Formats: sequence, structure tokens, C-alpha cells
Amino acid sequence: MEAFTVENVPLIKAGDDIASIICQNADVMDNDIIIIASTIVSKAEGRMFRLEEIEASEEAARIAQKQQADPLFVQAVLDRSRDILLESPIFLVETNNGHVCIKAGIDASNVDRGFLVDLPADPDASAENIGQRIEDITGRKISVIITDTNGRAFKIGQTGVAVGLYRIHPIKDWKGEKDLFGNILQITEESIADEIAGTANLLMGEGGSGYPIVIIRGMELRSDDKASVKEMYRNSSQDIIRKGLCSLRHA
Ligand code: GDP
Ligand code: MN
Ligand code: MN
Repeated sequence: MEAFTVENVPLIKAGDDIASIICQNADVMDNDIIIIASTIVSKAEGRMFRLEEIEASEEAARIAQKQQADPLFVQAVLDRSRDILLESPIFLVETNNGHVCIKAGIDASNVDRGFLVDLPADPDASAENIGQRIEDITGRKISVIITDTNGRAFKIGQTGVAVGLYRIHPIKDWKGEKDLFGNILQITEESIADEIAGTANLLMGEGGSGYPIVIIRGMELRSDDKASVKEMYRNSSQDIIRKGLCSLRHA
């Protein structure tokens, strides 16, 4: 496996064509996995906003007081969320598109001062648009993973995670395979999309290094059928952590 950054990526503005930036600066091959930071996808899609554009509801004011946060920011998170898992001390939500993360993934870093940037509204659709355009330009068959940096339960430290996919299934099912001693694996489902996102994030970094696009080559993971990040989430009846958080909120 080989992993490398795409060089010469400019500061992305609304309307920029990420697929052609990639094709101009990299020699794309069949089966390449192209990993793109959600921040630049959102900027290209024009998903920057200012808090001044927002009006806070009473609910936002109530939560903001609990968190010692700006009610306008809380309102921005509420507007982008369909469920709240925790209000405080961390603001954990399920976004309108089904991603569970802190503050609906709204980011203030690597965007013009005074602006915030959203996650893409439908990151699978963004990945598909970019992926199909790269395939049209190059004639190669590739996969795309759009990433964000997220924290995790229990552990210190954030990692890159997949938030949108094109032509790569996120989970590798090891159930039924044998281990070294011939035991049949019963449980293991490997989250390859998050592992790839984490690998790419090592090269991206979090600051000003300017590497929002990474290519991983040498893995045969492309799938011909439609893939979605929604395959990664447990359904709510099986999600005991979510149930625990829910009972905490209603205690
Ligand atoms: P996130 O993980 O999607 O929230 O993105 P980050 O803000 O952590 O940025 C990931 C990488 O992309 C870092 O190397 C940033 O410097 C880089 N980056 C972010 N925006 C741009 C941009 O507009 N142009 C370039 N060249 N790099 C960017
Ligand atoms: Mn982010
Ligand atoms: Mn990041």
C-alpha cells in the first residue's frame, strides 16, 4: 500500500471543481482510493456561513446557557441536527444526514476568519459527484472517501473518520473466516473506511499544512455497487451506548 498527498491544491473557494484539481495534479490509476477532507468539499459547495445570519430560539438560549456558549452557535448546530444525544458538557448530535458528531461538524478552522464551515449536506452524494467526474475525466475506476476529524468515546485524541463514500464499502465482514488456529470468527467487522480515513489524516494533519487530498494505492477495495456511510451506523435498537445517553438525558 502506498499513500501520498496531492500537491498544489489551492485555497478552495465556492464553486471550485475539486475533481479537476485532482486530475490536474495527480496521475490517477485504477483502484486508487482518493481521500478528501470534508472542509474543502464544503468550501467548494459554498457551505460557509456567519453567525450574524442566525436568530436564536429559546431552546438555543437554554442550551447555550448550560454550555456557556453563544446562542447563535447553538442555533446553528440545532438547525443542522435531527437529534441531540448530549447537550453538555459536550454537544453531541445526530446531523440531519445521520452522522453522529460534536456540534454537527461545524468547523472554524481552515476557513476565512469570521466564517464557519458546515459538513457537506449529503457527503455520500458529494463523494459520488467528485468520484464520477474523476472517472469521466480519467477513464479510471476509483473510490472516494470524504473525511472529517472526530473525537471518540473513551479515548483521548481525534482521528480521521469517513463521512461520505463512493464505490467502497465501509465495513469488511470477517465473520465466518478462520483465525490462525482454525477458530471461526464470530463478531469482527472491520471498519476499513475509518481506517483508511485515519491513515490519510496522518498525511493531512489538522493545521496549515495544506494537504486536504490523499491518494491510497495498492488496495483492491473498489466496489461496483453503490456504497454509503449509512452502512456504518448501528440501528438504534442495537446501539446500547445511544440508549444509555438517551436515558441519561431523560433522567
Ligand atoms: P477537516 O478534517 O475536514 O475538518 O479538515 P482540516 O481543517 O483538519 O484540514 C485538513 C487538511 O486540509 C489540512 O492539511 C489543512 O491545511 C488542509 N486544508 C483545509 N482547507 C484547505 C484549502 O482550502 N486548501 C488547501 N490546500 N488545504 C486545505
Ligand atoms: Mn472538520
Ligand atoms: Mn481535520
